[in-house]
Amino acid sequence: MNRQDIRNQFRVLSDYRRAGYGNVILCACCVAVVQGIRPYIALLLMGRLLDNVYAGAGLSRLFLLTAAALGAEWLCAAIFALAIKGYNKKMEYMYEQQNLLIDKKLLDMDYEYLENPKVHGMIHSIRNAGTNRGLIGRVLDDLERTLQAAVSILAAVILTLPLLFTGLSSGQGALNNQDPGRFGAFFRSPLSTLLLLLLIAAMILISYRTDLSFGQKIKRFHEKRTKDENFLDHCMGIFSSPERQKDLRIYQQQKLIREKSEEAIRRVERETCREAGLTSAGEAVKRTISAFTGLLVYVFAALRAAYGLITPGEVVTCASSIIRMSSSLAELMSALASSKYNARYCSDYVRFMETGRKRYEGTLPVEKRQDNRFSVEFENVSFRYPGSEEYVIRNLNLKLLIGERIAIVGRNGSGKTTFIKLLCRLYDVTEGCIRLNGVDIRKYDYQEYCRLFSVVFQDFRIFAFPLGEAVACSENVDEDRARDALAAAGLSEALKRLPQGLHTWVGKEYADEGIAFSGGEKQKMAIARAVYKNAPFVIMDEPTAALDPLSECEVYEGFDRVVSGEGSGNPSSPRRPSEASRPAGKTAFYISHRLASCRFCRNILVFDQGRIVQQGSHEELVEKEGLYRELWNAQAQYYGAAD
Ligand code: ADP
Repeated sequence: MNRQDIRNQFRVLSDYRRAGYGNVILCACCVAVVQGIRPYIALLLMGRLLDNVYAGAGLSRLFLLTAAALGAEWLCAAIFALAIKGYNKKMEYMYEQQNLLIDKKLLDMDYEYLENPKVHGMIHSIRNAGTNRGLIGRVLDDLERTLQAAVSILAAVILTLPLLFTGLSSGQGALNNQDPGRFGAFFRSPLSTLLLLLLIAAMILISYRTDLSFGQKIKRFHEKRTKDENFLDHCMGIFSSPERQKDLRIYQQQKLIREKSEEAIRRVERETCREAGLTSAGEAVKRTISAFTGLLVYVFAALRAAYGLITPGEVVTCASSIIRMSSSLAELMSALASSKYNARYCSDYVRFMETGRKRYEGTLPVEKRQDNRFSVEFENVSFRYPGSEEYVIRNLNLKLLIGERIAIVGRNGSGKTTFIKLLCRLYDVTEGCIRLNGVDIRKYDYQEYCRLFSVVFQDFRIFAFPLGEAVACSENVDEDRARDALAAAGLSEALKRLPQGLHTWVGKEYADEGIAFSGGEKQKMAIARAVYKNAPFVIMDEPTAALDPLSECEVYEGFDRVVSGEGSGNPSSPRRPSEASRPAGKTAFYISHRLASCRFCRNILVFDQGRIVQQGSHEELVEKEGLYRELWNAQAQYYGAAD
């Protein structure tokens, strides 16, 4: 693990501390320290007890020592129980907290990153991090293991070093009075202790290398398995979704998907078995090394006692402590290996948390104008998506007049939606400039700039809230305005049928008495939300795609009146109002593949490969040779809509 990895781990912990989870981290540290020290207290007191028995101490002293051992054990158990209680209780919510941190970040990040697959890869990595406790669970485990092992090693060193190097020379050992010989002399010298420590270090190193190499192999199996597990998740999603089951059944893909998922399950089983085999093999190697180290230490301690260097009680304390130390060192190595493995998740976390605020954030307030006199100008605008070399908008020049209705038409992929994304500043232009009332839109405060737009995206989402709140996008609902907006979108009849009116929940997921809207009704709701916002720019991307012809007409009627500034309400006539009869109101953009529904816009922009190749009214454009006439004639063939 390098320094950056350690910094990343601290960054994860520090974010959780700031999110109010400092106590959990503290509890985890307490658990680790107590667990690290606990065994040594008993060992020390046991050694003393033994020496006292040998020395013929009185019962009261023996009783006192036993009581001290039990008391210390009880104290450790109590601290441990308290810490673990606080730890486990909060740990249950750590995963949710982690998701909350991710969600907050997602809300705050530049929009372009939300469409970036790499960012989604990072989120996946953080959320799962190979365990169901997520990244924070892993980092806390590593912290706890490392700290416990480190405390344990420290305690062992404090207890044993004096015994190993100085010795008592008490003269009571079995071999003490014999000629020590070369072996005895060597054994009495500190060199033998150093050699023992070196041997232990070598054993630990072997154990660490074993851990690392088995860990890497296991990781490879794990990665192989993850692909299949993701595929199985995907299959589960298909089985449990009525929408997807429609396609599954109609195209009779049941057999195909069953076979594919069974194959994946077989592969997962195979990989899991191999992984389990490897884990056991690694464990067996480590245990053998540990047993050998233990043997070595006991022989060493016994010989030291035999030469009278330490007492029998100290043999127990010393040998047990060293064995514990060697297993703690192995545990420390294993925890470090695990931290090294987890470093990539932490690095993903830090990269994710540091992603997302690179664009220029202006501070200019947007002028508040009752007359909606906002003008927009595209000046030599070109754009390519981040990470892509291909321009999807090319050298676009356009001036939009206040109160205009603009239709945007063109083939799929010609850049219509991207044009809207640029206008709403979801992305910043690559070259050129977009101006609002003569000022570069990047200079405006983004939140204020956003208030200028009501957009019904093609892939809009309506969130599960009470209807009024879902339309107002706030808890403070102006009920009359919400009713008007719903009426303008053609939902007044539906509203009348709802027993709880505007307080009825959208969807049944969170309220039994909620209303499950149809696809068309949802689209109307999205339109109502746009109407309620009452923004000077209104953008509709395929606004009526899910509507039947009558609803489409109704929506256009209501919406047109709102856009014109005539107020809203139920349309009384099926006729689409003409442009000429309308007072200047909002600036409206309609993107639609149904050219017939764009005819009422006087200004039609025809997009092709990121450029505006034609511009004009329907009448002008059908007259001329060009893409519009081509598209119009192609549709007319099927709908009989041509003039
Ligand atoms: P339209 O709305 O006219 O169908 P778009 O504006 O959605 O077209 O797309 C224009 C081009 O930009 C297409 O080639 C599309 O593949 C590409 N594109 C759209 N979104 C992204 C994105 N997030 N990243 C990269 N390329 C994109």
